[in-house]
Amino acid sequence: MSKFRETAMKSLSGDGHDHVSCVAEALQRAEDICAARGARLTKLRRHVLQLIWESGHAPIGAYELLRRLDKEHASAVPPTVYRALDFLIEQGLVHRIESLNAFVGCASPQEEHVGQFLICQSCGTAAEMNDARIDRAIEKVAAELGFATNGRVIEVRGLCPACRGAEA
Ligand SMILES: [Zn+2]
Ligand SMILES: [Zn+2]
Ligand SMILES: [Zn+2]
Repeated sequence: MSKFRETAMKSLSGDGHDHVSCVAEALQRAEDICAARGARLTKLRRHVLQLIWESGHAPIGAYELLRRLDKEHASAVPPTVYRALDFLIEQGLVHRIESLNAFVGCASPQEEHVGQFLICQSCGTAAEMNDARIDRAIEKVAAELGFATNGRVIEVRGLCPACRGAEA
């Protein structure tokens, strides 16, 4: 099973998994990746990443991040948080979900990909599914049409298993 599929299943299992280890693994991964690339994971950047992961697998908005940061980094102002987010996105550690204007941690930042998400419109969970066949299909059709693609995060809305169960 790919790392993406594994994380997507965790995302959709709600409380049915050990999220504390998701957060710990994500932070360790970020430290390793940044160290290998010579990118500086400052205390603030690390803390922003931690808050994003601690929000579960539901994307979190910049202002909510700022509100939570306030306790420990009283001096954190919106531009500082946006710069930290830019850094995390650049390193592939975080994806921006356009339709929600919110941010979610990536479980496989070392792999080249753009992000395909199943987003629950009831609880807000975003499961990153990343199927390379979808990317290839888009590239193929775009090439046939002479269209040069420039990044895309695919966002598919619906209901997660838990919310479907609650509806039934
Ligand atoms: Zn988790
Ligand atoms: Zn990703
Ligand atoms: Zn849901």
